[in-house]
Amino acid sequence: MTSSTQATPLISAIVPAYNEHQGLTHAIQTIAETLEACTSNWEIIVVDDGSKDNTFVKVDQLAVLDSRIKGLALSRNFGKEAAMLAGLEYANGAAVIIIDADLQHPPSLIPEMIEQWQQGAQIVHAVKRSREEDSFQQKAAAYCINQLISRFGGINVQNSSDFKLLDREIVDIIVHQLPERERFFRGLTSWLGFNEYFLYFDVASRQGDESKWSFWSLLELAITALTSFTSLPLRIITLLGFATLTLGFFVIGDTLISLANGKAVSGFATIIISLLLIGSFIMISLGIIGEYIAKIYEEVKGRPHYLIKASVGINRTQPR
Ligand code: UDP
Ligand code: MG
Repeated sequence: MTSSTQATPLISAIVPAYNEHQGLTHAIQTIAETLEACTSNWEIIVVDDGSKDNTFVKVDQLAVLDSRIKGLALSRNFGKEAAMLAGLEYANGAAVIIIDADLQHPPSLIPEMIEQWQQGAQIVHAVKRSREEDSFQQKAAAYCINQLISRFGGINVQNSSDFKLLDREIVDIIVHQLPERERFFRGLTSWLGFNEYFLYFDVASRQGDESKWSFWSLLELAITALTSFTSLPLRIITLLGFATLTLGFFVIGDTLISLANGKAVSGFATIIISLLLIGSFIMISLGIIGEYIAKIYEEVKGRPHYLIKASVGINRTQPR
């Protein structure tokens, strides 16, 4: 990276952080050093996503040492998607890198990301090569969700991560032209198209304690991911309806024939089973429709994605 030590445009790094005070200082210093090796014209925006620990105190301390390190504190835990959006809205860079606060996204990839960007890539995706740490269930769940979205949503998010470099043009599109409330950043960036470049990395083991995602927050992300990118579940309901109808015709035919032959209509069990089956199909179908209606409701309410309660080094009157 000798060429990029010349004056380069501003590079922003956005670091969403939720209860990361343990490893934050080290992580930010590592990211800062890596950026410094590429250019002195950088900024790091740490977005404290309503942490309950001293994350923002750490950001404050870092900001005092280097004014290129800035911080935003959200008023509560809005989730990583909102934290990333907040960062994107306040970043000033010609290129913006999004990276986790736990060093699971290796900063050593940053120079190559910047190089690819300088060579014309508008989105540089970092793709996970392996994820050894995850349990079998986690891997299986991630695989199923990614497969569903890839197959039916028509975009490929298999092994993709939120670790990305985005050109200013892409950031502006995400901030200004994609007004949806519920977001699935990984999916959105694949959906955009443009000049993409893929880099591969091995997921490092987590610094500090365990993952910040709870089972429910992952489930929520999965549902958002699905409902944002495909209406296939709704179509499945229609297909199920037709399947039940066809089955119904057979049963009606069978019943009529039995009746004509003078046989008693058979089976209490049949009635109970079909009642239960149809009942559960209807319940599940209503649930699926409910998910989409809930999504429409969220969009229609039009509430802000996040609220900021404090900031350091950032002009809050001017989100981009
Ligand atoms: N994170 C966040 N808000 C949340 C959960 C996580 O900003 O509600 C941040 C977290 O601090 C980290 C990144 O998102 O920088 C990824 O989180 P984590 O490492 O827990 O997830 P995983 O590595 O399992 O994807
Ligand atoms: Mg992590």
